[in-house]
Amino acid sequence: MTSTEARDRSLPVVAGVDLGGTKIQTVVLRDEKVAGSARVLTPQTGDPGDVIDTIVGTIRTSLESAGASEADLRGVGIGTPGEVDVAAGAVLLAANVPGFSDRVELGPLVSKSLGTTKVAIGNDVSVGVLGEYRRGAGRPYKNLLGVWVGTGVGGGLVLDGELHDGRGAGGEFGHMVVKPGGLRCSCGRRGCVEAYAGRASMERRARRLVKRGHKTSLFRIMKNRGRERLSSGVYARALAHGDRMAKQLLDDAAWALGLGLASAQNLLDLEAVIVGGGLGDRLGQPFVDRIVEQMTPHLFVSHNPPVVLRTELGDLSGAVGAAVLAGG
Ligand SMILES: [Zn+2]
Repeated sequence: MTSTEARDRSLPVVAGVDLGGTKIQTVVLRDEKVAGSARVLTPQTGDPGDVIDTIVGTIRTSLESAGASEADLRGVGIGTPGEVDVAAGAVLLAANVPGFSDRVELGPLVSKSLGTTKVAIGNDVSVGVLGEYRRGAGRPYKNLLGVWVGTGVGGGLVLDGELHDGRGAGGEFGHMVVKPGGLRCSCGRRGCVEAYAGRASMERRARRLVKRGHKTSLFRIMKNRGRERLSSGVYARALAHGDRMAKQLLDDAAWALGLGLASAQNLLDLEAVIVGGGLGDRLGQPFVDRIVEQMTPHLFVSHNPPVVLRTELGDLSGAVGAAVLAGG
């Protein structure tokens, strides 16, 4: 070990956890950089205690991989799906995390288990956008919208350098209406962006089309890959093979995202838009280009469009943002 490394290793660290329904991704930041990480599958036992033990385990593993100890840990941040009580550090309802269908005192329980006092909790999408804003693609900007295209479509708005969620429910880009009376959304309403661009809605649509006799390789690719859902990777493969249904579904997703973005832009005159989430990260630049194509004709001021970017941190945006939330 050089003397610089030895000095670096004594610097304090902050941990960030991205809690998801299928996996838990944790990083440790030292001097604003990722120094260690761990990723494991989310326990499916339905016992929140198992999820909390697993989170604590990933924090310890990440500390180890960063060459740090628990004594160096200055804070922990956790991004979680569902409704969050920030002040109490509690999750009220995160339907896709097993055991989180009722209130879970996530922050206090992790804090107790680690012996660390400071555990900050935030909504997973807001925290992902915060990660990109402070440590990723959004660094040069003060006014931006993060659009996370995954199972659903999440959004996070940064205005004048601050995450802005109105009275707590703002930034819900996925539920902007792009087609009155259109497809049914997971929120129960019709015509939202998410009804066209969320993976869960796209899959429901694909199954209906297959029932009506339309052909696609999507479900065969899904089975061959041992998946139970049409994941982003399944779409990417089907597209590469020229699957027409996959192309149509993704064209419609880009259409809905583009329309929603144009309306957001006409209202807010943003500097940048960052497209992340499973589909955004996996399908990459061609998908982003298609969204821009759909957005552009609807911009009121067409000569000064927002830059539309991919994430820089990829699937680490959430974990890094969680660490930033805790002061990392
Ligand atoms: Zn909706």
